[in-house]
Amino acid sequence: MKLLSRRVMKKIIEILKKLVSFDTSIERSTLDAAYFVANFFDSQKLPVQLFYKNHNGIYNNNRASVIASVGKGDHADLLLSGHLDTYGVSQQIQNWKTNPFNLTRDGQTLFGRGVVDMKGSIAVALSLIPFFIKQKLSVNFVFTHDEEGGFSSINQLKDNNFYGLVSQKTNYGIVMEPTDSQIKIRHKGYRRYKVCFNGVLENQKEKVWWLFKKNIELLHKRCSWKKSKKFEDNCSSLTLRNNMINEEVTFQYRYEINDLGEREFEKFLPIVFNRFCEETKIINKNISCTLKEEINILPLDCNHPFFQNISDKPIVSYGTEAGYFQKYGIPTVIIGAGNYSFAHRSNECIQIDELKMFKQRLMSITRQRF
Ligand SMILES: [Zn+2]
Repeated sequence: MKLLSRRVMKKIIEILKKLVSFDTSIERSTLDAAYFVANFFDSQKLPVQLFYKNHNGIYNNNRASVIASVGKGDHADLLLSGHLDTYGVSQQIQNWKTNPFNLTRDGQTLFGRGVVDMKGSIAVALSLIPFFIKQKLSVNFVFTHDEEGGFSSINQLKDNNFYGLVSQKTNYGIVMEPTDSQIKIRHKGYRRYKVCFNGVLENQKEKVWWLFKKNIELLHKRCSWKKSKKFEDNCSSLTLRNNMINEEVTFQYRYEINDLGEREFEKFLPIVFNRFCEETKIINKNISCTLKEEINILPLDCNHPFFQNISDKPIVSYGTEAGYFQKYGIPTVIIGAGNYSFAHRSNECIQIDELKMFKQRLMSITRQRF
C-alpha cells in the first residue's frame, strides 16, 4: 500500500513538473499546457476536446480550454474543474529565488509558479484517473484558460455549448482553487465594467462626470444592486490628459444571491449607457464612450445537504468559476490543495503533504454515495 502511494506521489510530482514548465501567465499562451493535458487523456483513449479562445467569432490561437471525460453515461458522478493559466511573474521575477517554471524541491516543499493556484491540484486530479476508472465513476473534466484574466473562458465555453458536453445531471462539481483541502461552499460575485471616454475638453469634464454618475446611480436604483465601494475610488481616477479626458473608469456591482439583479442589470445597462452617450453628444459631439465588461464572477452558494456542516469556515474571499456550474444546476463546491496565501506570490510553494492530503480528500469524497 505504502509503495503504491509512493508511486502515485511520484506520478503527481512528474505531472506537476510538466505543468509548471509551461509559462501560462496571463499575457502568455496556454496552448502547450492545454495540449499536454489533452494528450494525457488521449493517450489513455479517453475522449477529449479543445476549445480555442474566441472573441466575437475571431479565434485566438493562443489559448484553449480542455474538456475531457472518464466513464460515460448521461448522469455523471462528478465534475472536476481548474484553470490552466497562472498569475504572471514579470513584476516579481527579481524576488524569485528559483526559476518559477522549473519545479524545484527543497525537502518537502515544492516551488514553482502555479503549484498552489492551481497546477498542483490539477496534477492530483489527473493522477487519479486510474482510480476513477477502477471505482467506475463517470467524471467530467473542465480546464479553462482565463481565470486570472477575467473569467472570459468560462463565458466562452458557455457560448460554445459546453453545457451540452457536460451533463446537467452531474451529481456535484469541484472547482480546485486552494482551500487547504477544506470544502468551501460560498463566495461573493461581482461584475466589473470599463468605460472609456474620448474627446472631452477640460471645461466639459465636470458636466460629463456628473452625467456619468447620474446614469450609474439610476442603473443602481433600477437593479436594486449594492453599489461596490470601489465605484467611488475608481471613478475619481477620471483625470485629465492633454487637456482632454481621455481616460477610463471602471465600475463594479456586487451580485445579490438571487438572480433578479442580474436580469435587470443586463436589460438596463445598454439602455442607460446609450442614453448617457446621447447626453454627452449634446455637450460636445466629438465625445465618444465605449463600454466593456471586464469581469463577471457569479456568486456561489451551494446549499446541497451533501456539503453542509462539513466546514468551519465555508466561505472563501476570492471569486471562482464555481458559480457558473452551480447556476447550470450542478451543486458545486471549492476544494483544492495548498494555502491561498501563497497564490500569486513570488516563491509560490506547496508541501508534498498538502498534495497528499488533497488526493486523499478527493478519493474519500468520491467514494461516498451522493
Ligand atoms: Zn485560481
